[in-house]
Amino acid sequence: MTLESRIVADVTDLLALRFECQQCHGVISWPLKSERKRALPKRCPSCDEWILLESSPVRAGLTQVLEGMDLLLDSLSDEGCPVAIRLELPHPAP
Ligand SMILES: [Zn+2]
Repeated sequence: MTLESRIVADVTDLLALRFECQQCHGVISWPLKSERKRALPKRCPSCDEWILLESSPVRAGLTQVLEGMDLLLDSLSDEGCPVAIRLELPHPAP
């Protein structure tokens, strides 16, 4: 038998995406709320390494995710929703 533990978070509890530079391990926390108006970062603010190139498929995917999160969070706050939307994350056993 295997015991699995998971973290369950309501989608409205999500605060930010966190980018960690693979070069220097500097962290950027990127708010998910719709008041975010800044463009995604291109360079690490700590070491100036390129982290999200303009032509990167990762950047394109993140842009779509952020636009989708804006739509989802705005819709949930405006209209309510008959179902709770939650994310499951693995939680290592102690
Ligand atoms: Zn860096």
